[in-house]
Amino acid sequence: MTTNGIAANGIAEGGHEGRHDGRHDGRHDGRHDGRHGGRHGGRHGAGHDGGHGGGHEGRHAGAHRGGHGGRHERITVVGGGIAGLVAAITCAEGGAGVRLIEAHGSLGGRARTDEGPYRTNFGPHALYQDGPLWAWLSERALLPRVASPSLGGIRVRWQGQLRRLPPLRILPAVLRLRGLEAPVERDFRSWVRDRADEEVAALLSATAGVFTFHHDPGELSAAFVWPRLMRSFHVPPPARFPIGGWGALVVRLEARARELGVEIELGSAVDALPEPPVIVATELGEAAQLLGDPTLEWSSTHTVCLDVALATRRRDPYVVSDLDECGWIERFTANDRTLAPAGEELVQAHLGMRPGEEPDMAQARLERLFDLSFPEWRARVRWRRRQVMHGRTGALDLPGTSWRDRPAIDRGEGVFLAGDMVAAPGLLSEVAFQSALQAGRGALEAARISRPSLLEVA
Ligand SMILES: Cc1cc2nc3c(=O)[nH]c(=O)nc-3n(C[C@H](O)[C@H](O)[C@H](O)COP(=O)(O)OP(=O)(O)OC[C@H]3O[C@@H](n4cnc5c(N)ncnc54)[C@H](O)[C@@H]3O)c2cc1C
Repeated sequence: MTTNGIAANGIAEGGHEGRHDGRHDGRHDGRHDGRHGGRHGGRHGAGHDGGHGGGHEGRHAGAHRGGHGGRHERITVVGGGIAGLVAAITCAEGGAGVRLIEAHGSLGGRARTDEGPYRTNFGPHALYQDGPLWAWLSERALLPRVASPSLGGIRVRWQGQLRRLPPLRILPAVLRLRGLEAPVERDFRSWVRDRADEEVAALLSATAGVFTFHHDPGELSAAFVWPRLMRSFHVPPPARFPIGGWGALVVRLEARARELGVEIELGSAVDALPEPPVIVATELGEAAQLLGDPTLEWSSTHTVCLDVALATRRRDPYVVSDLDECGWIERFTANDRTLAPAGEELVQAHLGMRPGEEPDMAQARLERLFDLSFPEWRARVRWRRRQVMHGRTGALDLPGTSWRDRPAIDRGEGVFLAGDMVAAPGLLSEVAFQSALQAGRGALEAARISRPSLLEVA
């Protein structure tokens, strides 16, 4: 039996995003290739010393079969991103022996920061100080040094022009909407339109591009978009930026895991589900393969992302929020000078690809936003990288669905999922974090149940 039972287990739900009447229209685009071209090291069969009795033969590739009829108390975690690291720490703090297996040669997953002159994060930048991950890190003295967002240099593109402020007529509408509980069933655009007008609905929808990475966030569930928009644009802003990139946070999590005795195997790609208790903390497509369950899918985005190092020019903007096409550009060296050599700026930009749009077309649209925002930027480029991401920017909930409808964390028989596409609340990596806590607690319980009593051993 699968359950998600998150609220019952005390995981923070955050705002009012979780409540709805349970209706589910099943509209998922479900497209995520989750591929990681050629970066995995060796293959790891995950079998240990033979078969496993019980009701789930065929799903697990062998067992750490102890002398107790297949019973054991070691928990395996597959995947060493934020979710896998938090899950491993949770299990180790709970007293279990933990083995964490990571395909890549280093930990962090999408939260890795490139070595070298340009310290680009593959994925995350913002760590939200009003969120549950921040609180958990703080309790453990694991918070890295962070930078605050710059207060100046913010621009918006609206009707083809770069402006310092969004149209001010948006403000009364935002004040009216503030504190309202947005419905799960409605799309965000029509919900706003009914309370304001078409233009305000378009403006607010496009503003949500920064955390949805979607080409048209107005299509998503109002209950998904509105609380996240309120959080992201709260004054003062809750976003903080780990100095030196998210790699600084990964280093701290790894140290904590090792201190607790977690065995970490790097460069080892698991290709069959290990013996339970096991937490699969990979991207959802890889989890679907390991569990042999093609129904494990959820809506996400197709996004083109440009990392660019530019020669410094005074008066470059810090942020450009694209209210025409839902894109976003941020110059991260405005907060953290350690990210690029002196005299250069590190900028990351993203834009959701439209249905059927080729990456080159989306890139050309994004470059037009650069043309407007960063004068003569093409001549100033010192380095650049394009990434096309399919289903890698986190879960999106379509109208009629909420996080509760995503793939359940507890898959039964001691198998758990963690990651940013499963049934947990939160903003971006907070979903990975909260699901990891839940999976860790579930695996500890499963390990406790499977641990032999002294009587049985005797
Ligand atoms: C462009 C972009 C911007 C983002 N911005 C933000 C932001 O500002 N703030 C924020 O909070 N979040 C942000 N996110 C989201 C954040 O990056 C993710 O939610 C988070 O990193 C997901 O962590 P994870 O551990 O679930 O998955 P991953 O980081 O993908 O980790 C999965 C791990 O599993 C490993 N693995 C896969 N298959 C196997 C296998 N068979 N055997 C062993 N190991 C395997 C992988 O190598 C990987 O290390 C952003 C994401 C993107 C893409």
